[in-house]
Amino acid sequence: MPEMETVACPICESEQIKVLYEHELYTMSRCRGCGFVRQSTRLTADAMRKLTYDPDEQPDEMHLGHQAGNEDLPAWQPKPLEAYAVCVEAIEAVRPKDKPKGLWLDIGAATGSLLLAARNAGYEVGGAELGRVQVEVCKDVHGIDVHHGTLRDAAFPDGCAEVISWRQVMEHVFEVREELQEAGRVLAPDGFLLIEVPNFGGAKYQLGRLRTSLRVSRPFWEGLNLPEHIYYFTIDSLRRLLAAEGFEIVTWETYGKYRKKPSLFQRARTSVRDGLKIGNKLRVVARRAAR
Ligand SMILES: [Zn+2]
Repeated sequence: MPEMETVACPICESEQIKVLYEHELYTMSRCRGCGFVRQSTRLTADAMRKLTYDPDEQPDEMHLGHQAGNEDLPAWQPKPLEAYAVCVEAIEAVRPKDKPKGLWLDIGAATGSLLLAARNAGYEVGGAELGRVQVEVCKDVHGIDVHHGTLRDAAFPDGCAEVISWRQVMEHVFEVREELQEAGRVLAPDGFLLIEVPNFGGAKYQLGRLRTSLRVSRPFWEGLNLPEHIYYFTIDSLRRLLAAEGFEIVTWETYGKYRKKPSLFQRARTSVRDGLKIGNKLRVVARRAAR
């Protein structure tokens, strides 16, 4: 049996839960204190690495592959740069236009696509990444120095970053409060955090839970990225998590799968989904909360 741990809610620290689904590798629960949906019993970080994937050992499959329809891109690039430029635009929309561009740190930088988009927009770039091959791609292909490891062991200088970003990373971070504390140390006083996570309030997730409760499909949870995703955020739970470490949300939106050439139907569906904010991914820009 792999090593497991039972943990309190990282947002409100309550240990009171309503169990939603039990599996031998995880227990999905809703926190009775704040409503956050997460794994209350989970693999330890070490067991997760052994049982799912070790970023240092299986990089080709996990991070050097294309999304369907993007096979014409270079091997290191999963999606066209436009798909990453939208993250940069989310920051551009809130920062002062006349201020010189600072340092953008991407955590879980993968093969550097977001950092390329940020550099193209005029930022200095760096970051941290657990996968050895991805770090080499950042260095050898793009000339970008990315720390091989976590944000915390990178030990960046106090207040050095104008932007710190996590794209589809935060739902995997075991010590998520400590991660945000470190970000608070590394971020410049007027800097921004950019976070993208799966949106548990999105249509796919809401519909899936409804279908399961009506017993018309296999258990909803087994179709999700489990046990890897230890949290399932909504905008409300992400807002509370950030507030617990002294950050406030400035802007947020939802989005879905990137398509290079969307059909008319897909475009119509996207505009409805984005308008209602029920896309399956969340993008949030945050800053230090006013005291
Ligand atoms: Zn809670």
